[in-house]
Amino acid sequence: MANAQLAHVTKRFGDGGDTVVAVDDISLDIEDGEFLVLVGPSGCGKSTTLRLIAGLETVSEGEIRISDRVVNDVKPKDRDIAMVFQNYALYPQRTVRGNMSFGLKMTTDLSEREITDRVDQTAEMLSISDLLDRKPGALSGGQQQRVALGRAIVRDPALFLMDEPLSNLDAKLRTQMRTELQELHQELGTATVYVTHDQTEAMTMGDRIAVLDGGELQQIGTPLECYYEPANRFVAGFIGSPSMNQVGGRFTGDAIDVGAFEYPLTDEQREAVEEGITGDTVTLGIRPEDVTLTDDHDSRTIEIAVSVVEPMGSENLLHLEKDGIELSVSVSGNQLVTGGDTVRVQFPPDHVHAFDGESGKAL
Ligand code: ADP
Repeated sequence: MANAQLAHVTKRFGDGGDTVVAVDDISLDIEDGEFLVLVGPSGCGKSTTLRLIAGLETVSEGEIRISDRVVNDVKPKDRDIAMVFQNYALYPQRTVRGNMSFGLKMTTDLSEREITDRVDQTAEMLSISDLLDRKPGALSGGQQQRVALGRAIVRDPALFLMDEPLSNLDAKLRTQMRTELQELHQELGTATVYVTHDQTEAMTMGDRIAVLDGGELQQIGTPLECYYEPANRFVAGFIGSPSMNQVGGRFTGDAIDVGAFEYPLTDEQREAVEEGITGDTVTLGIRPEDVTLTDDHDSRTIEIAVSVVEPMGSENLLHLEKDGIELSVSVSGNQLVTGGDTVRVQFPPDHVHAFDGESGKAL
């Protein structure tokens, strides 16, 4: 059972010549109990999508359902959702208890006793019981974020909506809170839509991730699906750090000619290219960790110069250059390579992606 659904949802801002299509015909299901991450670069429509689900914006076209009920015309407070914002949005004059109980008082028939019990239980779950009488001004950023989460959890909604909730925390606290949020999610099992621009956060937190660009859904899948089987060039470049190498070339019938070298296609790759190509250009993609250094001198290896060696801890990232083509390659830190060296590399066929040069779609 899907917990919420977007069916062909479009959101336009403005009218006349100044229209911005912030969300462009997005359809997706939020499965029962899943943690779905909306991820993409700034301005791709993540927040607007979340705000449409919340009812803070009205849809221009399409339908939004929560728990099988069409909510297009339902007010935010009646949608059975709870939202957590980046800036916490706590009431400064109210205590933590006041902040957590306010929504319950306004939207439920629960008695004072029941509200107190629920707030106490939630505060305990979040380790903020000792803060209940304080006001937000007397709390650290991390504590305020816990209170904001507590305020959402205490309402026991059908759906949590979280808009970059960790981005105001320092790096260490953010990592810690990611784990805590995942644990909370496992405990509560409430479907969650979580917005972030940070692909690492998306990869580590999402049961599934929905990658957006230009208001359009590029791919929805598990983090590993998006990583290993990117639907197009955009997803390939956005998911994974350091980014996938992408090199444009021409399909010659049995190879891709990128100028600096020819990549010979396997039979399987050639068939896939022939079947899906729309013009004669192809973008080859390979992740830095999949390029291998080799001593072989056959048609599948390329001699290439090392321009810079970037230490990354246990690994080094080599920046390679040949006739205007640049490649990044991660190698273990004990490989003795320095800038100015020449190395030979090869692309294991199982790790090479091919995208249609015109549409960018995976072939
Ligand atoms: P993201 O959350 O991915 O950064 P947004 O959903 O905030 O992106 O914005 C998507 C696009 O819609 C952007 O081009 C943004 O400028 C535009 N937009 C968002 N809100 C409004 C608004 N209230 N009025 C006009 N344009 C808006």
